[in-house]
Amino acid sequence: MDLYEHQAKAIFQQYGIPIPRGLVVRDESSLEAAFSAIGQDSFGVVKAQVLAGGRGKAGGIKVVDSLPQALEAFQNMLRMRIKGLPVDMVLVEERLNIKNEYFISITIDPEASLPVLLLSPRGGMDIEEVATEFPSALGKHVMESSEGLPSFAVMELARGLGFPAELWGELIDIAGKLYKVFCEEEATLAEVNPLVETVPGRLIAADGRLSVDDNALFRHPGLSELKKEFKEMSLKDKGLDYIDLGTGDAGLLCVGAGMTMLTMDLVAQAGARARCFLDVSHGISAEGLSAALELLASDPEIKYVLVNMFGGLSRMDEIATFMLQGIKTMRGQFPKPMVIRFQGTNAEGGRRLMMEAGYDVYTELEEVMDKFGELLKGAK
Ligand code: GDP
Ligand code: MN
Repeated sequence: MDLYEHQAKAIFQQYGIPIPRGLVVRDESSLEAAFSAIGQDSFGVVKAQVLAGGRGKAGGIKVVDSLPQALEAFQNMLRMRIKGLPVDMVLVEERLNIKNEYFISITIDPEASLPVLLLSPRGGMDIEEVATEFPSALGKHVMESSEGLPSFAVMELARGLGFPAELWGELIDIAGKLYKVFCEEEATLAEVNPLVETVPGRLIAADGRLSVDDNALFRHPGLSELKKEFKEMSLKDKGLDYIDLGTGDAGLLCVGAGMTMLTMDLVAQAGARARCFLDVSHGISAEGLSAALELLASDPEIKYVLVNMFGGLSRMDEIATFMLQGIKTMRGQFPKPMVIRFQGTNAEGGRRLMMEAGYDVYTELEEVMDKFGELLKGAK
């Protein structure tokens, strides 16, 4: 899992790596809050938050010095795609007075299969470019597992690469902290490019990249929380309101918040516990319903699925068609026990389509909850 810049920086900061002051902004009103938090004097930089590098070149980094300018940059970025990715939030930060840009990274050396520290005085540019064009400006130190990252190794690298001696101490400190992030968060990459030397002569992480091992996420509740956030956000793009309740065995698929809450209570009365709910109000599309069913099918904690839908503006036969399209991609059959209730506009047509595909669909709430109860009893 790759983290967003602002998430990577927040973690770096927890480990004591200096980062610029800033706030994540998703709407115009929080832009004002960011402006007051940063202050007129050092305002500001607007940075598109997408999981892609090279944002600078793509127009995703904008230096601004007033609130209207920041607003304009923010609005432009919302219309942008960077490497195909839409922008829906930005990081607004204090502007740095940049003297030099460096590069520091810890990753796994593919040859040695050990952590490696990469350091370069030529930061800000693509490191692959540095490696091909200025190979002598890229230093590396492979870490034997027992020794960790000794200070003298960082100092030797820094000296060899021509870093000014007054920065060695700070470099050792930051490299040590980055290595700590790398180990403790079970990362596959922890990188700062550029690591900026400011005019007052301090080092600060102007950018941040952190990739963590998906298989290790369960050991990191903080990171798991981020993962949850990702999932909720990516589903929101498809018009789905998804809430992960953490524990439970039932997955709910409903239309409308009221219906969702009611269904949750009924599920609890039946003796199960909702693990998550999906409200498809704004996602009545083949893509939205496929994504919803996909999620319910793939979460191993979910043992039963309850679909409770009332077609108001949307027609139930259309919803059934979309659901069946989604199910088709799952080797033709939804892989878990699922009970369904359809009501409202064209419910009859929707029921017929689902029944033809082999799914029982009920009309009354009581009926469907009885069936759900039977399902639980059968399983216990
Ligand atoms: P990337 O292009 O996606 O890697 O984004 P970066 O955060 O690395 O920013 C790209 C470039 O923006 C940096 O290398 C800087 O040269 C430039 N830049 C200019 N002013 C600032 C500033 O105040 N803060 C930051 N972070 N970058 C700045
Ligand atoms: Mn960068």
